[in-house]
Amino acid sequence: MRETVVLTGMILTASPMKEYDRRVELLTRERGRISAFAQGARRVNSALSACTIPFTFGEFTIYEGRNSYNVKSAVIQKFFGDIAQDYDMTCYASYFAEMAQYFTKENIEAPEELLLLYVTLLAMQNKRVPFRLVRVVYEMRMMMIEGQGLELFECLHCHQTGTRAVYFAEGGLLCEKCAAKDQELKRVYPLILSADALYSLQYILSSPLERLYSFTVADTVQEELEHFMRSYLGRYLPHRFKSLDFII
Ligand SMILES: [Zn+2]
Repeated sequence: MRETVVLTGMILTASPMKEYDRRVELLTRERGRISAFAQGARRVNSALSACTIPFTFGEFTIYEGRNSYNVKSAVIQKFFGDIAQDYDMTCYASYFAEMAQYFTKENIEAPEELLLLYVTLLAMQNKRVPFRLVRVVYEMRMMMIEGQGLELFECLHCHQTGTRAVYFAEGGLLCEKCAAKDQELKRVYPLILSADALYSLQYILSSPLERLYSFTVADTVQEELEHFMRSYLGRYLPHRFKSLDFII
């Protein structure tokens, strides 16, 4: 008998295979990102049809074939139907999925990535937070989960709080005194954050994932946060995400 496993996860992408099948990429809590075949998923009456659509979240019963995973059945726990209806939401969700794909691998569990993606899609669906802010929050938190987070609570060298000067090359905040001691740093201009922007970023780094999307910011702070993210990701994430082409 073939062995089956039940994995909690979300469909990241789905593409047609042969005449009636679908190949899906699944982000799972237990086994990270896996690709699997859903046989007959494109047949009209297939039970797999609805549960192998991108952004469907649930419990997937999978059996391991000789060379691949196969979806046997699934219990849908959340279907983000709004995403396909809204062009902007589709673009942002595709970008979030692509970033999750980039950071995850097969056989390395991904519980935090999965939960982050889930609460992010939920936040877009609820429309309480503008998509541009959702993007900043998602990127910032994902970088932290992947061990690329910045120290934004205290000076990296002397641990004093109160500074708002970010030195990307150093990995976070430095106070004036510590920056002045270093010949190299004296020549570099830090990015000085406003108090509101710094507080927002600190909140994103420290909030439980379930409460991540519970704030909004003024337009000026939003622009500041976007500027900050461009500098940060430009330095720490040297990858071009194709789905970004669709986000203005
Ligand atoms: Zn210092």
